[in-house]
Amino acid sequence: MIAHLDELYNREENILAPFAVHNQDSGGRRFEEKNHPFRTDFQRDRDRILHCRAFRRLEYKTQVFLNGAGDHYRTRLTHTIEVAAVARTIARSLCLNEDLTETIALAHDLGHTPFGHAGERALQKLMENEGGFDHNEQALRIVDLLEIKYPAYDGLNLTWAVRAGLMKHRTHEDGSRTFLDGKMLPLYPCAESQVADVADDLTYYGHDVDDGLDSGLITLEMLQEIKLWRMCEEKTFAMGLTEKNERFAACTVRNLIDTMVGDLIRNSAATLEKYQPQSAAEVENSSVRMISFSPEFQRLTDELRTFLYHNLYFHPVLAELNDLSYKQMGTCFRAFLQHPELMGEGAQSRIAKDGLKRAAADFIAGMTDNFATKEYNCVSFLYPEYGKESKV
Ligand code: MG
Repeated sequence: MIAHLDELYNREENILAPFAVHNQDSGGRRFEEKNHPFRTDFQRDRDRILHCRAFRRLEYKTQVFLNGAGDHYRTRLTHTIEVAAVARTIARSLCLNEDLTETIALAHDLGHTPFGHAGERALQKLMENEGGFDHNEQALRIVDLLEIKYPAYDGLNLTWAVRAGLMKHRTHEDGSRTFLDGKMLPLYPCAESQVADVADDLTYYGHDVDDGLDSGLITLEMLQEIKLWRMCEEKTFAMGLTEKNERFAACTVRNLIDTMVGDLIRNSAATLEKYQPQSAAEVENSSVRMISFSPEFQRLTDELRTFLYHNLYFHPVLAELNDLSYKQMGTCFRAFLQHPELMGEGAQSRIAKDGLKRAAADFIAGMTDNFATKEYNCVSFLYPEYGKESKV
């Protein structure tokens, strides 16, 4: 028996909550396409993400530790896969659309630059008078414009629900609202997008503690100041481990992720039960966020997040990454503005439409760490004058 599209829609009807986004409410695609006989729209969108070039490049982009610095550290790709796995668990528990959740999770970091957040800051600075740079908006540019796969149009032609789901920030710092295709988006994204967003946070809290311990920049002694960590250690002791060693740390990281996921599912289920949204639109236009930690638990995760900021992300060892990305990306950017022929064919072809600076920013944002370093070496060999300013 083949489960054709009608059967897949029937299954959704039976499984999904009324507030989940159903495939038939995907909002359609920018360019009309025939339905696939045995894949729903969101299944197709997920596959389009998995098969795109930007997804494959995630393997060689820094998450926190410079790509290649150690065999066990997360990369953007392994981070993304972990987020997708956690997000699917949460979506399934809350009777949300797993395929949509997974698609948004897999696409959520496509717009990241080389060299992690340091690279993003460098590109923001380079583009500050040209419309700026934001990795979420860049993810949308990639799926809408920069991937070239179809004869009649640019981009992956994803559904509205996925594209809007990628726009997780619905207000800007100046209070203005977020628009997509000229349409103002509701205050909250759909529940599936909210799940992918919190799954991103809790996944990186867990794996950054793990990678931080592995690197030695964080120690078990330092983590004693974190209440959530102490609670998770108690669970590890209860599992029979008595000695604080590598196994103990790994078990405690497991407990940490499981505890965060558990609180999120229970609290979100209670919120959904209280407000009883009857459709995805009611979730998006609600007065409260449906997917969140409990208030008490939110304080615990905030404490952990602050700890990670102080002890990991701004650690002097990682600050070297800032200098590296400012130097390499700034040099390439300046050289590309004078010699656009150094950029890839795709970037050159977009200059007429998007302007030279945006085309250069797209090209640089798409680079892996390795490629950025190779380009930097090549550019600074050909034109040493552009490397003289070490800061952007
Ligand atoms: Mg992420």
